[in-house]
Amino acid sequence: MATKTRKRCKVCGDRFYASRSTAIYCSDTCRKAADRAKEEDKDSALLKSLSNTGFFSYLTYQCKRAGTVEVVPTQLESLVELHSVYVYNNKANAYKSEKEYELSHIHPVKVTEGRIGSLHPSNIVVQPLKFNRSHGSKYLGGGHSINAYRLKSEYKIDDGDDRNTIIKKIFKRIGVTTLKQFKKIAKPATLALIKELAWFDRVCLLDKTIKLNEMSVVQLRELKASLTGTEPFNLSFSVYAHHEVLLHELKRLSVHRPELIPVVEWYATIASLYDDSVWWWNDAGDKSMFDMALALLQPILAGADTPPVATLQLACQNAATASVEALAAENEAKRLQAESENEAFWASVPDIDNWLDSYVDIDMPLKQRTQEQIDNCPF
Ligand SMILES: [Zn+2]
Repeated sequence: MATKTRKRCKVCGDRFYASRSTAIYCSDTCRKAADRAKEEDKDSALLKSLSNTGFFSYLTYQCKRAGTVEVVPTQLESLVELHSVYVYNNKANAYKSEKEYELSHIHPVKVTEGRIGSLHPSNIVVQPLKFNRSHGSKYLGGGHSINAYRLKSEYKIDDGDDRNTIIKKIFKRIGVTTLKQFKKIAKPATLALIKELAWFDRVCLLDKTIKLNEMSVVQLRELKASLTGTEPFNLSFSVYAHHEVLLHELKRLSVHRPELIPVVEWYATIASLYDDSVWWWNDAGDKSMFDMALALLQPILAGADTPPVATLQLACQNAATASVEALAAENEAKRLQAESENEAFWASVPDIDNWLDSYVDIDMPLKQRTQEQIDNCPF
C-alpha cells in the first residue's frame, strides 16, 4: 500500500492526505471549482480581447443607442456576416476619419411602430453618409427589428452602464461558445489605437512625459517610427466608388431579400456601363442613366419597396433621353448665341470699303500721297 502524503488543497487551503502523489485538490468539489475558475479565466481573456476590437466598440455603441443588448444577433452566422459588413464599411471609407459611408439601420433604432431596429445583418446597410443624413431615421419599410415592449430586464442598458458593463451584457446574451467560434472565424481586429498604445506599454521607455492617450493613431505611428528609425506605417487607400458599394450591398442583401435578385442582375449591367465609360463618357445619356439608377436604388437598399426591373429601366431610360435632349437643346442654344454674337460683331465693324479708303498702303511712296494721306498716315 502506498504511503499517503499530506498536502494542502489549492482551492480551499485545507490539509489532506493524498492517495496519489499528483493530487492537488482535497475533493471532487474543489477540483470542479478549480476547473470552473480556469474556464472563467479563459472567458475573461476572451472578453478582454474582444472588447479591444473596433467591432465590439461598434456593438457597444449601437446597444447603448437601442437601450438593450437584445439587438445583437446571437446566431454565429449572423454575427459573422455583421462583422464582414462592418469591415467592408471601413474598407469602403479607406480607413479615413472623414467618412464617405456609414452603417445605417433599415428599421431605425429609435422605436418605430412599436419596434427597435436590430443589428441583424439584414437590417444593416453600407450607405453614403450624404444619403443617410438626408433620409434621416425615416422608416421606409422592411429590415429586422425586435418588440420594444417585450425587452428582458437582464439585457436592458441602464443610463449608468459603462462600456465594460455593456460588453458583459453582450457576452451574456451571445454566449461564450458562439463568441469563441466567432473569434476563430471572423478574427476581429484590435483597434489600431489600442494596438499602438500596447506597443508603447510593452516596448518603450520614454524619457519625456508625453501624453500618449491624447495622441491620434497617426501621431503614435510617427512617434514609434522616429523611435525605431523606420518609416511610419500609414497606408493610404482610395475610397470606394458609390456604384461599387451599392452593387456589393445589393448582392449581399439579396440573400435576405430575394426580391432584390433581378435588381442586382439589372444593376450589374448599368454599373458595367460606368466601368467601361468612366474615361470617355461625354454622352450625357449614359451618365444620367447611371445617376438615376443610383438615386433609385439607394432608398430601395434603405428599405423602400422594390419596383419591377422594367419600371426602374424605364425611369433610367427616360432620364437618359431627357438628358440627351437637354444636352442637344443646350448645344443649339450655344450655337444660336455664337451666331448672334458673330452677327453683332460684323455689324459693329465700319463699312469695309470706307475703312480701306481712309488707309494708305504702307508701300506707297511719299511723293505719290496726297497731303491729307500724309497727315493721316501713322507710319
Ligand atoms: Zn479543498
